[in-house]
Amino acid sequence: STINRKNVPEKRGNVMIDIHSHILAGIDDGVGSVDESIEMAKIAVQEGITTIFATPHHIYGKYETDKYDIIDKVNELNKVLEKKNIPLQVLPGQEVRIHSNLLEDYRMKKIATLNNHQRYILVELPDDHVPLYTEQLLYDIQCEGLTPIIVHPERQREFMENPFLLYNFVKKGALTQITAASVVGSNNRKIKRFTHQIIEANLTHFIASDAHNKSNRNFRMKDAYSLIRSKYGEGMVKLFQSNAELLLQDQFVHKEMPDRVKKKKLLGIL
Ligand code: FE
Repeated sequence: STINRKNVPEKRGNVMIDIHSHILAGIDDGVGSVDESIEMAKIAVQEGITTIFATPHHIYGKYETDKYDIIDKVNELNKVLEKKNIPLQVLPGQEVRIHSNLLEDYRMKKIATLNNHQRYILVELPDDHVPLYTEQLLYDIQCEGLTPIIVHPERQREFMENPFLLYNFVKKGALTQITAASVVGSNNRKIKRFTHQIIEANLTHFIASDAHNKSNRNFRMKDAYSLIRSKYGEGMVKLFQSNAELLLQDQFVHKEMPDRVKKKKLLGIL
């Protein structure tokens, strides 16, 4: 069940939830030590974040993070943060690289869903291609009663080349999460453009940090939301923020009818 933290604001609307981060120490390519986790937590608080999901990678052969290990580390970090009076609630999750045995692993309780609630699961595709079994897997995940959230589709090469693939997955019930840094375009202009096309086509439902460290892969949530506010208005900010709240409460999120991304614009041909 939900981990309760005393010094976190309870009031609805006074929260900012980050559903994707690598704030747990020594478990993947995220932060290296508990001290760094504490530093990251302080930055998260400065960014206005009140609740953060710790979602270590799960990639076969590389990071085989264990669900119970994640939950233990989350509990430990919460204790440390509470002791230091840092008002950030950490919740367990996992960023699961898709593979054909994903559901078997889930049934064997090897995979952590968000908040360990058997409702939402972060799924990551390989960077360079969409495996043929993806559509079937996303369908099967939903048949299992879970909602898959595809993380950072804006950084996925095949989605960029063929955005219809992403449209098709969203149309068939998958949710997606774009990265705050991609919204502001701190890494790459092409990714920034695709990110905004994804937003405009109603192909995404969450903004998260995917923060790994305090230098080149930091939070950028404040910047992302202020850009969203100036570009699309307060309603869009509210949509993303309330979706994260709904997720936290195991409810269904708000979805708009997805559109297709116009390929001409994507390639920038004029
Ligand atoms: Fe990540």
